[in-house]
Amino acid sequence: MNWFARWRDRRRRALAAAHPVPAEAWQLLIQASPCLNRLALADRAELAVLAAAFLCQKTFLKAVPQPDGTFAYGDQPPAADICLAIAAFACLPVLRLGLDSLRSWRTVIVTPGEYSLRRLDDDGSGVVAEYDEAVVGDMSDYGPLTFSAEDVALSGRGDGYNVVIHEVTHRLDAAAGAVDGVPELPAAISSAEWAAAFAPAYADAQTRFERDRHRGQRHRARTAALIDDYAAESPEEFLAVCAEYFFDDPATLQAAYPAVYALLSRWLSQEPLSSQPAS
Ligand SMILES: [Zn+2]
Repeated sequence: MNWFARWRDRRRRALAAAHPVPAEAWQLLIQASPCLNRLALADRAELAVLAAAFLCQKTFLKAVPQPDGTFAYGDQPPAADICLAIAAFACLPVLRLGLDSLRSWRTVIVTPGEYSLRRLDDDGSGVVAEYDEAVVGDMSDYGPLTFSAEDVALSGRGDGYNVVIHEVTHRLDAAAGAVDGVPELPAAISSAEWAAAFAPAYADAQTRFERDRHRGQRHRARTAALIDDYAAESPEEFLAVCAEYFFDDPATLQAAYPAVYALLSRWLSQEPLSSQPAS
């Protein structure tokens, strides 16, 4: 850690000491979230420090989506329990990497539920299609992260769904330059090693997605996919969905794609499967 990073770390710890997370709400959140509940006591305490600093240093805006696709911002901040959950889930992946990894953006926008996002799709021949897509969270380049409060409330329940971890993983992915499923890697992990674990797993997710698509809705109950089908969308979505499972349903990810689980564990220096709940 260089001098400036140490200074930022000290400042964050001072902020967290002055404005700690509300004890009762924090306890309720931990009890409701297996991914937080399985942390050892020392890790829980560190996460509380990071979350408190996150709450102090990010600007939370409550937004109401308008029919034209823009947001109207209210005077009131989003509900405190939603902000606390966002802070906890956003800091969980960077528990070891540190809050400097989340420095590149400042604003968190919270909508009540699903909202629509204007997308531009270039088909490669110069024809650009414009369409609206319903989403529950998104990351804009160097700008805010946006989350649906409804989906934050559904996140972290132990079924592999966590919209906050998903978008934060995209942000960590973006830190390496392109959002392409390859984040900034520590010296101990080569990009070849990363590709050797992720490429076959992603190809497998795509094959299973195709199989599910051909079987149609009738057989939806017996899906071939080992993790959420959205992982088959692109390498970056595969990384983001795997990160959700890594924390929120690690046993499923480990069983489905053990090499991916092992590499996520080395990248983030965390081992959710062997963590023991402290209480
Ligand atoms: Zn995504």
